[in-house]
Amino acid sequence: QAHLDRIAEVDGDIHAFLHVSADALKTAAEVDGARRLGAKLSPLAGVPVAIKDVLCTQDMPSTAGSRILEGWIPPYDATVVAKLRKARLIPLGKTNMDEFAMGSSTEHSAFGPTHNPWDLERIPGGSGGGSAAAVAAFEAPLALGSDTGGSIRQPAAVTGTVGMKPTYGGVSRYGAIALASSLDQVGPVTRTVLDAALLHDVIGGHDEHDSTSLTDAWPSFADAARAGAASGSLTGVRVGVVKELGGEGFQAGVSARFAEALDLMASAGAEIVEVSAPSFRYAIAAYYLILPAEASSNLAKFDSVRFGLRVNPPGGGTVEDVMAATREVGFGPEVKRRIILGTYALSAGYYDAYYGSAQKVRTLIQRDFDSAFSRADVLVSPAAPTTAFKLGEKLEDPLAMYLNDVTTIPANLAGVPGMGLPMGLAPEDGLPTGIQIMAPAHEDARIYTVGATLE
Ligand code: GLN
Repeated sequence: QAHLDRIAEVDGDIHAFLHVSADALKTAAEVDGARRLGAKLSPLAGVPVAIKDVLCTQDMPSTAGSRILEGWIPPYDATVVAKLRKARLIPLGKTNMDEFAMGSSTEHSAFGPTHNPWDLERIPGGSGGGSAAAVAAFEAPLALGSDTGGSIRQPAAVTGTVGMKPTYGGVSRYGAIALASSLDQVGPVTRTVLDAALLHDVIGGHDEHDSTSLTDAWPSFADAARAGAASGSLTGVRVGVVKELGGEGFQAGVSARFAEALDLMASAGAEIVEVSAPSFRYAIAAYYLILPAEASSNLAKFDSVRFGLRVNPPGGGTVEDVMAATREVGFGPEVKRRIILGTYALSAGYYDAYYGSAQKVRTLIQRDFDSAFSRADVLVSPAAPTTAFKLGEKLEDPLAMYLNDVTTIPANLAGVPGMGLPMGLAPEDGLPTGIQIMAPAHEDARIYTVGATLE
């Protein structure tokens, strides 16, 4: 009830939610009843959780921020949502996002932007700005996001929250409306590292419905976080500072807070080493070929027949005409831009020059990670180059918007885990900054331990 009250109080200004569940109190009462009867409940039982609208929920609309899915209620739950229900968390509602998770500001939502609770004139990051804003504004204690190029970590950085992108394959993508299937991962958005670890423990693990789901046995991430918090020591931990993910183009206050975070780690006993990953310079370019290519294919299913919106052209027409009219009205400009880019990059004659080259860069990035991780246990960088910018500031300039992902994209291209967590306010504008911690694939627990040590 407290969270519903808080939503009623502030969400008119923030617009973190696209839909608030009508069943939250009923579910809460059921959990309470089970508790009274002495049922053995999971650690997060009864805790409300906000869900990014990219995740299918069979009792709530799931739009992915797009008109083309307006009002669509999926026939099944995403695996992560099913796992939340099984652990008896309380789905609180669906959060706003850039359309089909394309964006860094949540301004590409078809349903209007989300505002940053720290300053309502500013963006909450994207694409998962709704989840981050809901957590930052105390509308929800926990949220789920999805991260294809930074959509969990960058919103966390600019709202002062914690966001974790797990190892690719560590969390099921079944029922997560796909943006770029080789990059997408679902993960937690919370206010503390321990909360993220507890939520990750609930949603992670193998799922036979996702062919890329790993069969690893994962350790308890909550235990990993508790171990870090209890020891407070980073003795023996080699922290690699990635040269290419800082410096020019980074806001002065972000760089200053990052330098302080490194001092803090050194004083906790960490060995700070500089590492270089030259190919990271090409990560954005490679990403903006690979992502549109995969997205153009994934979005072909929105054809006016199978899901959501159907627009009949005046005077009728062929199936093709209906499809074209529907996609014209149903998709926003950023989605259309990427479909065109993607189909171009994949077309005969251009495939090798664009998509093929981008895949080669991806391999180089993976190799740079391997070599960096031979010298460091974790890699760090600022989680975003700047604090939250003003609404409207970058909306007309796609390239300026894409540059926000400079620090986060490499981890998606290599499939390694990464976390964004608060590192204090920038002195020049008083807005949150974030540090990113990355670890080798399968070593998510290491991030929770180091992150909890810093908190
Ligand atoms: N901002 C990036 C993009 O626009 C990241 C998106 C994401 O992680 N879903 O593609």
